[in-house]
Amino acid sequence: MKILKGAEVSAKIKEQVTQMMEGLEGPAPKLAIVRVGEKPDDMSYERGAVKKMENFGLRVQTYVFPEQISDSDFKAEFSAINRDPDVSGILLLRPLPKQIAETDIEKMIDPEKDLDGISPANIAKVFAGDKTGFAPCTAEAVIEVLKANEIDITGKNVTIVGRSMVVGRPLSMLMLKENATVTICHTRTRDLETECRRAEILVAAAGKAKMLDGRHVGQDAIVIDVGINVDENGKLCGDVDFPSIEPLASMATPVPGGVGAVTTAVLAKHLVLAGRRQRGN
Ligand code: NDP
Repeated sequence: MKILKGAEVSAKIKEQVTQMMEGLEGPAPKLAIVRVGEKPDDMSYERGAVKKMENFGLRVQTYVFPEQISDSDFKAEFSAINRDPDVSGILLLRPLPKQIAETDIEKMIDPEKDLDGISPANIAKVFAGDKTGFAPCTAEAVIEVLKANEIDITGKNVTIVGRSMVVGRPLSMLMLKENATVTICHTRTRDLETECRRAEILVAAAGKAKMLDGRHVGQDAIVIDVGINVDENGKLCGDVDFPSIEPLASMATPVPGGVGAVTTAVLAKHLVLAGRRQRGN
């Protein structure tokens, strides 16, 4: 089984980003990471994103607000960041605390700065197959992993486990755009094993440690594991039980070291695209 390493895909995206930055006048585009509270998951994602931006030669600033911030105070702060001409793109760490109306923020964010595809305008573009919008970075990262490894998606049976607005749903639309035949599974799917086993490309995005194993993987399938979970020993793991799929799958992404590393690279690519558009390139 070939291991599809995220670092190799990320290196290819870095080359693209470097090329895209050539001829871009003025300071490097700046990412604003907006975090409310101190959730370990948010902080770990933030560290990864900061490191990646710096590694790609991009600017990044983190804006941290207290967990108890009121809805109106947060909206005022967010609005200022949204309007700041020095900020080319925004990454909002979610979910936000309950007192903040997240859907209002999704509507507020400037679609041109909405690098993670949360605004209605960008969601509509992803669903319409219009590539001028920003798709959620993780969903796009799955496509990047396949393309960087020269895996043809056209006509393939693709099964995606998970239907969230962050991964499963937008990814199903990106897969359709690539001419795959797509099946989306969720907790009400009647026969998950059969749906998964007939996939030529199986994407796990359920957020359940090691829930997919050898019973779910067909011979020579390509397995992309989006899940980030903690196992019974406190170690990071995906949704796929790696050892049990090894005799079956032809290729698979590891966790850690797979899709996660590519997600932040896609974020960097979106930032440069946003910066170029805002400067009229
Ligand atoms: P959500 O919890 O929002 O969605 C999970 C989806 O999986 C739901 O649609 C749910 O179905 C489905 N699901 C859960 N359990 C089962 C099951 N037993 N059988 C079938 N379907 C199931 O999670 P996210 O989409 O936000 O994230 C998914 C995973 O991806 C998480 O582990 C998360 O940490 C990771 N992630 C990784 C990123 C990266 O950069 N690599 C970025 C974002 C997320 P239903 O709709 O019926 O409830």
